[in-house]
Amino acid sequence: MISLICFLSFGFYIFQQQNLPGNNLFFEKNKTALLSQFQEKFGKYEYTKQPRITSVFVQLDIFPETHSFIANGNYTLVNKTNQTIDTILIKSGFDEITKIYFESKTSLIEEDSIFKFSVYKLEKGIEPDDSINLRFTINNQANTLLTQNSNVLKNGTYLKSDIFPRLGYFANTNIKNPDDSTALANHYQSIDADLINFEAVLSTSSEQIAITSGYLQNVWQENGRNYFHYKMDIPIKFVLGFNSGEFEVIKENYKGVDLRIYNHPTHNYCLNQMMEGLKASLDYNTKYFGAYQHREARIIEFPRSLGSYATTAGNCIQMSEMRFINDTNSLKNGGIDLSFYVAAHELTHQWWGNQVIPADVLGATMITESITEYLTAKIYEKKYGKKSALKFLKIQRDRYLTGRADETEQEVPLYLVNPEQSFISYGKGAIAFYILSEYIGEEILNGILNEYLNKVKFQSPPYTTSLELIAHLKKSTPTNLHYLITDMFETTNPEKTLSHFNNLLSKNTPTR
Ligand SMILES: [Zn+2]
Repeated sequence: MISLICFLSFGFYIFQQQNLPGNNLFFEKNKTALLSQFQEKFGKYEYTKQPRITSVFVQLDIFPETHSFIANGNYTLVNKTNQTIDTILIKSGFDEITKIYFESKTSLIEEDSIFKFSVYKLEKGIEPDDSINLRFTINNQANTLLTQNSNVLKNGTYLKSDIFPRLGYFANTNIKNPDDSTALANHYQSIDADLINFEAVLSTSSEQIAITSGYLQNVWQENGRNYFHYKMDIPIKFVLGFNSGEFEVIKENYKGVDLRIYNHPTHNYCLNQMMEGLKASLDYNTKYFGAYQHREARIIEFPRSLGSYATTAGNCIQMSEMRFINDTNSLKNGGIDLSFYVAAHELTHQWWGNQVIPADVLGATMITESITEYLTAKIYEKKYGKKSALKFLKIQRDRYLTGRADETEQEVPLYLVNPEQSFISYGKGAIAFYILSEYIGEEILNGILNEYLNKVKFQSPPYTTSLELIAHLKKSTPTNLHYLITDMFETTNPEKTLSHFNNLLSKNTPTR
């Protein structure tokens, strides 16, 4: 439920969204039906033009001892369209209590309390190229003895951008084809922002360090708590992480880049491999794709109870505890060095995901994940040799085979891969690019990728697609090898990539 609380004398119109008791349980049980009901009622807003979030400031106070947080924030919203915008669509964080403050007279038109979606009408619309400020406060629902309602932990908190109110009609589940020129206005990770300016002041308990994207401007103590002021110096995607914990910090300056790992003090036996992964990735990607866009790269550990993955947000890499406690004996026995590999993979996303940012259409993860996995295989090969790189690719092949065994429909070609089909984008994608590099050469393939990167990096909408990437591949690959691109990226016959891979393996198996 949303209610207009009051119109205060300092001139803000304030709206608060309440949580329905038992909302989460009810939602989980009825997700699909609720979404289609929502689409039926609010689908009329699908094409309602929205301003873009261009800057985000947040003060986030984290209270580990009570599992709570409070955030006060401010967005700059810019009308980048050529029409006046007077309708604002806001989806608030699902688990949070959010208050929205408008600076000018605004009324609530419609709302959905299950999805926390509200439609506001500004009495005076935003003119083209004009902007407004939107203020908000967010806090977690009160914890009870039996339930913890926030993701704030005693140690190892990791909050993400999903706590923030976001703009636009979020319920469009039909991802479009890359040849649809009307579908290229948003990048693959956001419907309401291109790149944003970002600044944050974080506070936490006196034993903990709080970290987010940006460079530390200042650190101080106040009322027995630690404060950290971060500011990013170039625009980044609105994909953020906020961590707080009792960390040990490992620092190393490598070729002018400040590398840091924030780890749980006893999880310290894979740190060297992780650091090596960052350095190797920095060397390889800088050599082929130009400078790293930040002066720092930080890996921050989060508890395995939150997942076993890793992800990149600005100059931070949030990485699961799982990668900090890898069995080092398995590596001695010929296993894959996952700490090295995951660090190298995530840093590679600084070029492929954070510089090259694809449109939110099918095939986007061919640009982000397939290329990143291929490059990680090459970085791995430089460190551990070709035999190990092929072992790594065999794991990718198995991932692909396992994933596709669960599919009921005809497999899509790589250039139309759906974001959920990681067995295709990572598994088959890594193999496809690696095979191409075997035929045309690593230098030539990376040269083509670099030419593509330089054309599209940090671009404004319309965003790039897999079709543009394939056009680049074809333009610079000898015509007699175009069949490889067709076989592995464009065809619907998935066996082609596997047979090329088997050929590669048999060529590289020593004969007696
Ligand atoms: Zn990735």
